[in-house]
Amino acid sequence: MRDELMGLLFRGIVWFGVYVLLVLLPLGLALLRDPIDMARAWSLEFAVAIGLIAFAILAFEFALVSRLRSASEPFGTDSLMQFHRQMGVVGMVFLLLHVLLLVPHGVGLAMLNPLGGGTASQTGAIAFWALLLLGVTSASRTRLRLRYESWQWLHALTAVVVGGAALLHMLAVNHYLSNGVLRTTLLVYTVAFIALLLRYRVVRPLHLARHPWKVIRNESIGGDTRSLQIRPVGHKGLDFQPGQFVWLATGRRALTAQQHPITIASSAETGDPADIELAIKAFGDWSRDVVPKLTVGTRVWVDGPYGALTPDRFPGQGFVLIAGGIGITPMLSILRTMRDRGDVRPVLLVYAADRPERMVYQHELDALEKELNLRTVQVFESPPPEWQGERGLVSVALLRRHLPQHFKHYQFFVCGPAAMMDILEDQLLELGVPAAQICTERFNMG
Ligand SMILES: Cc1cc2nc3c(=O)[nH]c(=O)nc-3n(C[C@H](O)[C@H](O)[C@H](O)COP(=O)(O)OP(=O)(O)OC[C@H]3O[C@@H](n4cnc5c(N)ncnc54)[C@H](O)[C@@H]3O)c2cc1C
Repeated sequence: MRDELMGLLFRGIVWFGVYVLLVLLPLGLALLRDPIDMARAWSLEFAVAIGLIAFAILAFEFALVSRLRSASEPFGTDSLMQFHRQMGVVGMVFLLLHVLLLVPHGVGLAMLNPLGGGTASQTGAIAFWALLLLGVTSASRTRLRLRYESWQWLHALTAVVVGGAALLHMLAVNHYLSNGVLRTTLLVYTVAFIALLLRYRVVRPLHLARHPWKVIRNESIGGDTRSLQIRPVGHKGLDFQPGQFVWLATGRRALTAQQHPITIASSAETGDPADIELAIKAFGDWSRDVVPKLTVGTRVWVDGPYGALTPDRFPGQGFVLIAGGIGITPMLSILRTMRDRGDVRPVLLVYAADRPERMVYQHELDALEKELNLRTVQVFESPPPEWQGERGLVSVALLRRHLPQHFKHYQFFVCGPAAMMDILEDQLLELGVPAAQICTERFNMG
């Protein structure tokens, strides 16, 4: 297990190094060889350098979220998604700086007119406005009441426009890009982007189509949640680790199916046939309208496994599992797997919900308490008057009351709503839990 962890750490360092190298490579090539060898103001050169970095950052934004398993494994999908967002902001700031720094060199407001000026100016303006649209719709998706699926399409489309227009802009300016090596490098970046897009949109769905699953049970388990049992058809199913998730694709065809990230709730010690269970809470149109209609025999497709919220990757002397709402699913998979493996390491499960009736798998968790070295603390935000246990939000004070003596040697897994995660990530550090022992996963990607 330690070897696997070291291997992941090594791969993480290598991938991060490759990323930094690829982002800085265009600038390095430009610095190495100015093809025109013309003395220009340093502020103009600086503006161009910032622009080159902005392009490289934005070109690799898609790679971060294109489900390249070997790249996402060391970091976890949640961290990569957050990195994608942060680098998106950095890329935007760099592009804005690029434009602002060019103002003293004759780039006025007129240059931001996509219909005016020459090709260089027009393509630059298109890239600028498309990136602004991308940023605003991403930051304010809920305020703008954009459906997640509509936003995803808009996001992909604007990203392609930004990348394409920025590349054409650099080619049209034709200063550093008259350097053949740099020109070839940026063209290679573009080809790599297109290849990743094809893999994501065509190759992967075609692979899924050849490995279908069928629904064998779909029932309500309370708390607005449905339990979906699915079985591999004509293949051996998934080899996953407890706590990992899959992209569940539903629809008429794998190629056009709607995909949603859902955690596998079953034990990783699957049987034969290798059925898996997914617990899906009604949030929006897909989970509320489509999922209940997945009748027995319906074909679905499963892309995965993904995610790093798993004790197989982060072992410990014991575990503290903190779940908010439907964030219980990875914890259930972890506990079920521990039961099937006869793992008796101590576990504290803190399970928070609005009210008792919103909890799911209550009976099974009670049974697991008897089978494992498990203690469960339930926390309700709005408990009934007769409730004697913990109430409110999961806090440092609450954790202090229940954490075992040697908790600093335990591995912490946290999964729940974004607000809970933001607070807990800081509070666990405050409690003295080493950052390396805190593993989190957010259930909202947008
Ligand atoms: C790693 C991970 C594991 C998850 N595991 C579970 C689970 O075990 N059980 C469960 O009930 N829920 C889980 N979710 C949440 C689940 O994916 C969303 O609730 C579901 O996609 C909602 O879709 P909707 O159309 O019904 O709702 P919407 O109202 O359209 O979306 C609600 C929110 O869900 C997210 N979302 C919606 N569609 C997508 C999509 N296609 N891709 C990515 N995110 C999307 C967005 O953050 C959105 O704001 C998980 C999410 C993640 C990221």
